[in-house]
Amino acid sequence: MSTHTKKYHECPQHKCDGIIIVDVESEKIPRTDGHGNTFYYCREGQHVFSVSKSGEVVKDVTSKIVIMAS
Ligand SMILES: [Zn+2]
Repeated sequence: MSTHTKKYHECPQHKCDGIIIVDVESEKIPRTDGHGNTFYYCREGQHVFSVSKSGEVVKDVTSKIVIMAS
């Protein structure tokens, strides 16, 4: 298991805590994008961003999530 996965990560756009997105069934395993990047949801801006294993914000993935959900 990853030891550097945090429950919260600061959103680079809104400077507030984004909460980690976990697997719906387990509610424990973090959702990842297949590259080891973890998803976080920003409640302030209501968008999703991903964070790499080294703790860097990779990109805003809001558009991708919307496409997947539609
Ligand atoms: Zn934000």
